[in-house]
Amino acid sequence: MPKIPDEIVKRIQDIAKVEDVVGDFVTLRKAGVNLTGLCPFHDDRHDGNFIVRPSSVPEKRGGNTYRCFVCDKKGGPVTFLMEHERLSFPDAIRWLGKKYCIEVDNVPLNYTPPPPRPTPPPLPPLLIPRAYVKRTMEIGGDNTLFIYWLMHLPWDDEQRARLQQTLWQYCVGGWRDGRVVFWMIDHEGNPRAAKLMRYLPDGHRDKTQHPGWLYNQDGVRQRLDPDNHEILKPLFGSHLLRSYPQAVVNIVESEKTAIIMANYYGDLQSQLWLACGGLKHLQLDSMQPIIDQGRTVWLWPDKDGREAWQEVCDKLGYDKCRVYTHFFDTCWTPADGDKADIADIAIRMMTTGEGPRESEELRVKSEESPISHQPSDIIDTDRPADVLPEEWLEHSAVMRAIREWELEHVGEDTPFLDPDELRDPRIREWREKIRQGCNFNKTRKRNGEQQRKR
Ligand SMILES: [Zn+2]
Repeated sequence: MPKIPDEIVKRIQDIAKVEDVVGDFVTLRKAGVNLTGLCPFHDDRHDGNFIVRPSSVPEKRGGNTYRCFVCDKKGGPVTFLMEHERLSFPDAIRWLGKKYCIEVDNVPLNYTPPPPRPTPPPLPPLLIPRAYVKRTMEIGGDNTLFIYWLMHLPWDDEQRARLQQTLWQYCVGGWRDGRVVFWMIDHEGNPRAAKLMRYLPDGHRDKTQHPGWLYNQDGVRQRLDPDNHEILKPLFGSHLLRSYPQAVVNIVESEKTAIIMANYYGDLQSQLWLACGGLKHLQLDSMQPIIDQGRTVWLWPDKDGREAWQEVCDKLGYDKCRVYTHFFDTCWTPADGDKADIADIAIRMMTTGEGPRESEELRVKSEESPISHQPSDIIDTDRPADVLPEEWLEHSAVMRAIREWELEHVGEDTPFLDPDELRDPRIREWREKIRQGCNFNKTRKRNGEQQRKR
């Protein structure tokens, strides 16, 4: 059999568009500059794993290729035909010749097209009413062990003063049974999902329980009907992208870390903190809005997650995204342990009085947005674009009242609800433990100060 001339192979390879070829077999949807669909190589149920970088993207940035981030199938138009339609290389070229009306040779194409697959109509994405966010935020506060624990961390005065504000900005709520609710609200402000987690008195997650999802809870499931919707899980904190269009986007693993770091530095104008929910949950589709906005992205993996996230970063092929390890390199001590996350280290630094290290690590990493150290009085100047002035005024008044109370009563317990209202008796028990722990910390801090004075 005569070989297909090289110049014809090249001509076809130059003209073949991956989006056309894959699109003949897979229903593709636009997702930013990319296209996504269900992966045809594995039993895929989640749109977003299979990405097609169209031919309009330059080749050096991965244009004219497809890739599945689950089964790792990847290649260009020819590879796709060879793998998916089980064609030989010459037959794939002949197939493309037919598609693009380029004469290849006289050898008949050995190919029977499969019958077109009926594609089920896409499910509408789940949108949770905003009233749910508000309701969980009302439950929040001291009824949630996580928030109680957070309030009693050894913050300095400035950090403590802005903690309520930070929690409000991240829409952290509570559930009836004392679990904390982390909302996943997308970059356009639509609540898409909410994770319910139980924390222990030491601030770590109760690993005996899997995180729950709000749409699966009794009474909610019937109303939201998650089975007939596509569940989107934007990065935790994505809704803040809109309010802080200039900020560098830092992505950490856990929601807890994002909140702690945001409150620790308190400068969302230039440094936003988002969380993906875990080492393995850094997904391409949830990062797309950030990439579409052309943001600078820093990935802050936990100590054991560096390699995995570097790999994600490489796959992403987005030149403004980098893995950031300076914090660990300069702040981690062997005492923190190999499983330490960033928040553990930050808390240890606060506890031992090493205090915020003047953000030197942030200054190093971001030339385009040097961090500023003005005392943050973000309450009056930071109205998010989607909040009406009168709403903001009311909110600011509440926040100011809380802050003033905190300033007058530094170190005292915050007032909380009648314990009889708490359904979970463990919370009462845990609170007592936390209170003892805090007193211990305070004593230690005071002793430390006295020693320094000598
Ligand atoms: Zn796949």
